[in-house]
Amino acid sequence: MEENNQQKPDKPKGRINMYWIYGMLLVGLIVIQFIPFTHSARLISFEEFESNMLRAGDVEKLVVVNREYVKVYIKPERLSDPKYKEVATTPFNTTNPGPHYRFKILSADGFERKMEAIQSELKQKDPTYQPVQIYPEESMDWGSILSVLIPIVIVVAIWIFIMRRMAGGIGGPGGQIFNFGKSKATLFDKGQRVNVTFADVAGLDEAKAEVMEIVDFLKNPKKYTALGGKIPKGALLIGPPGTGKTLIAKAVAGEAQVPFFSISGSDFVELFVGVGASRVRDLFRQAREKAPCIIFIDEIDAIGRARGRNMFTGGNDERENTLNQLLVEMDGFGTDSGVIILAATNRPDVLDSALLRPGRFDRQIAIDKPDLKGREMIFRVHLKNIKVAPDLDIHRLASQTPGFAGADIANVCNEAALIAARKNKKQVEMSDFQDAIDRVVGGLEKKNKIISEEEKRIVAYHEAGHAICGWFLEYADPLVKVSIVPRGVAALGYAQYLPKEQYLYTREQLYDQMCMALGGRAAEEIVFGKISTGAQNDLERITKMAYAMVAIYGMNERLGNVSFYDPQQEYTFQKPYSEETAKLIDEEVRSLINKAYERTKNLLTEKRESLERLAQALLQKEILFQQDIEELIGKRPYDIKHQAEAAASMPQDRTVDSTNGQPESSDGQPRMEPVDEHQRS
Ligand code: ADP
Ligand code: ZN
Repeated sequence: MEENNQQKPDKPKGRINMYWIYGMLLVGLIVIQFIPFTHSARLISFEEFESNMLRAGDVEKLVVVNREYVKVYIKPERLSDPKYKEVATTPFNTTNPGPHYRFKILSADGFERKMEAIQSELKQKDPTYQPVQIYPEESMDWGSILSVLIPIVIVVAIWIFIMRRMAGGIGGPGGQIFNFGKSKATLFDKGQRVNVTFADVAGLDEAKAEVMEIVDFLKNPKKYTALGGKIPKGALLIGPPGTGKTLIAKAVAGEAQVPFFSISGSDFVELFVGVGASRVRDLFRQAREKAPCIIFIDEIDAIGRARGRNMFTGGNDERENTLNQLLVEMDGFGTDSGVIILAATNRPDVLDSALLRPGRFDRQIAIDKPDLKGREMIFRVHLKNIKVAPDLDIHRLASQTPGFAGADIANVCNEAALIAARKNKKQVEMSDFQDAIDRVVGGLEKKNKIISEEEKRIVAYHEAGHAICGWFLEYADPLVKVSIVPRGVAALGYAQYLPKEQYLYTREQLYDQMCMALGGRAAEEIVFGKISTGAQNDLERITKMAYAMVAIYGMNERLGNVSFYDPQQEYTFQKPYSEETAKLIDEEVRSLINKAYERTKNLLTEKRESLERLAQALLQKEILFQQDIEELIGKRPYDIKHQAEAAASMPQDRTVDSTNGQPESSDGQPRMEPVDEHQRS
């Protein structure tokens, strides 16, 4: 019977795609909708029944079903009659027990009355006539029941599926398809050698010392606990991207020779509710089994962001659950269980304070962008495997890459090798490194990007304007190199400066920086009397800087010493100040920028001759280095004085006031970018 296609699909064995099951359910549903529940009894009319069967005396019994239709059973001995040929046997060639026919009726009462009339008539004709028995029957209507039932079955099936996905981590019978709750951590076990050691990490001596101590905790816990000390549960590596946080964690794994779980914060985050928390649980369960061991969570800010701030984004709940689970797990194991957690982030300011509480990540290891010496050491590490010319000046390379992180330096070394190979050189030379630095800073050189003569002139004066300002403003960054070779997607010219390594900026310094950034546009206005879209990038930076000075660093008299620093974007919808303050901020920002612009124009007008000379030289040579500029317009007036000063006053106490001392975030950052790009839209 067709009802059989109702059968539930088999339980998934191993890798059955869930979509198959959905598909089968769907097909089943459609089949049921389209195939009527055919009864094997043939449908006939009442008249046919009356004349051919009833009056012939062939009927054994009648069953009235649900007062809707009547099933007709033919006497078995009469079935041999040729007129019943069609219904006499089943498809399996046995005698059909019936019902053999059916017909519809309008009402049961009317049917019974009709039957009585016919039967008494028959009785009169033939007194031996045996009246046909009529039985009522209530039967369930499978068709309509199933059409209600099947959607419910489908909904329940989907629901069970999702529940299993969620609960996967706790175990349960599911095969591999239900593995969503398992942690995705990569395990580097004892036997497996991680071939990164501390020797591969250049500089970062303090950080290395700290993590080495952690390795020691794991190896000789007794030594520390004997004196009553508690071993820290975790350490947080904090620093900008590419500074070697992952590298140092890997080195720990290589050195410690204990199992090492590595996972990224974003691996915990899934679309499905509860998955993150169950992954955390699973990770710690595995770790406890393998103790002593190290867990490394990269980009922990993906889950560790402060909780409960954004009222408008509902999606936070899942992340909060994950974070809560992490906190619970960190509290859950004792310090003697031999599991230590390392985590890395470049945004410590957005982390939830509960994570930083003692007893969790109680150690914080700062990893900064490398200074001159650090860069030199990183260069040496990465140059080990590169065939370089013997006269390569590594010190000069380091001094030409201010603001580069370790990852950038690794990139430069690799690029240089590729560039030299393309030129079929036997060894990598200084000029290849120069090109590589340019490429890393400014993108690919566009040899055939066509710019008109007129545009080139504008770019040359624009860049010369920046360069002049940088040269003659005391606190601006001295220029390393200026180029009007188009690079990257949008940059038409670019200049590279040498920012001093410093963490605190005075108002005068920021103001000079602003003027220098305005130099390009001011030069265009002075020389051509018109301005172009080329300054868009500069203006963006200037605006950010001005807002930072007024509203974040409290450097404005009218606003006073207030800061509306908002690292977590809490105030997206509601500003923490009044309308008037907002207006005041806008006013002050505008007047600050206007003042700076006037000053820049005055300076450039005064140095107009140097400006011309630089711009003309640029048009001719396209690239000018510091030395060329010195030859053209003389030595920089402040340089000698400054270098001595900077060396003497390197602030050593920067950890004391780290958040404000190092304006890391994009909105507060006055200048870490050595690049000055000019875009055309
Ligand atoms: P992040 O801090 O973003 O985790 P990584 O550790 O992933 O940075 O560093 C990326 C790459 O940069 C490393 O694989 C390495 O090649 C290079 N690097 C970064 N810092 C250093 C360093 N101090 N010494 C040597 N190489 C480094
Ligand atoms: Zn510019």
